Amino acid sequence: MLQIISLGEALIDFVSLKTGVDVKDAPGFLKAAGGAPANVAAALGRLGVHVGFIGKVGDDPFGHFLKETLANNGVDTSQMLFEKNARTALAFVSLRPDGERSFSFYRHPSADMFLEPKEIDEDYISRARIFHFGSITLISEPSRSATLKAIEYASRHGLVISYDPNLRLNLWESPEQARREAKKALHLAHIVKVNERELKFLTDTEDLLEGTKRLQQAGPLMVVVTLGKEGCFFCNKAGNLKVDGFCIDAIDTTGAGDAFVAALLFGLLNCLQEAEGLEQIPLEKIRMILQLANKAGAITATRKGAVPALPTLAQLKDDTFAKSPRR
Ligand code: ADP
Repeated sequence: MLQIISLGEALIDFVSLKTGVDVKDAPGFLKAAGGAPANVAAALGRLGVHVGFIGKVGDDPFGHFLKETLANNGVDTSQMLFEKNARTALAFVSLRPDGERSFSFYRHPSADMFLEPKEIDEDYISRARIFHFGSITLISEPSRSATLKAIEYASRHGLVISYDPNLRLNLWESPEQARREAKKALHLAHIVKVNERELKFLTDTEDLLEGTKRLQQAGPLMVVVTLGKEGCFFCNKAGNLKVDGFCIDAIDTTGAGDAFVAALLFGLLNCLQEAEGLEQIPLEKIRMILQLANKAGAITATRKGAVPALPTLAQLKDDTFAKSPRR
């Protein structure tokens, strides 16, 4: 039975073979499956969740590689479509010495942008418990209407809705448009995950408590801010939590946020099988879920690329890694 659906872009990340140089000066690139919602789907599949991905790729070698990669990670790809008139999006990525990334996108336009509302299957969505989406497919039509249609179906059928804005400012017409549109989607979601930069961009404050309160006022029941190596901060009506991260040597943080989201949704899914709804999950249970999500993010940061680095359930449960929380 389908449990979680992730909708959005699947693309190829070409990760520079050399760290600490611009894309311009990279001597070569490693091909890796990417796109945040596709990474989340792959991460959930690795964890043994019955997960489906909705999105479009080009009918080209990269599109077929992506479909194969998701399927090999246990994702249902029956709703992953091939677009004849556009190619799979590419993102060239270079890693700075601290493991952070800079991007150069090739999507002028790309297949993911052509997902249409009529291609969204209501019956498919109605069969899941959680629906996850991002902001990239909200940038232009028709993928924007397709995303909103899928959210409408998810809401109609009582799914818990999760949103990771995952802002890529150079893909929007202007920062103002990105802020406006990314904020508009907040009220559609029950769970919102942002990183520190996105929190500041969307709320005009770096203060975690104030920022998460501001996001919550827009509608979501739960807000989580990921803090890189420092872990994460959580806020809901019942209170807030800061959960320390794990101490690791970061090699490449690509996909860390997506692995975090997947482990968070995995944990919440398990709780939802016992609790009535999101608001009934006790804070202590949420703390344990966030520890697991931090671990998933940390494990992913220890290897190059996103999908190859995503943890399995056995890795998440391995206590030897858990012995090294920060402080
Ligand atoms: P995003 O990739 O969305 O920007 P972050 O960089 O905050 O998100 O990373 C997501 C999560 O991955 C963090 O909350 C943390 O748990 C883990 N993580 C990321 N980078 C590191 C690191 N250098 N050391 C330990 N954990 C990390």
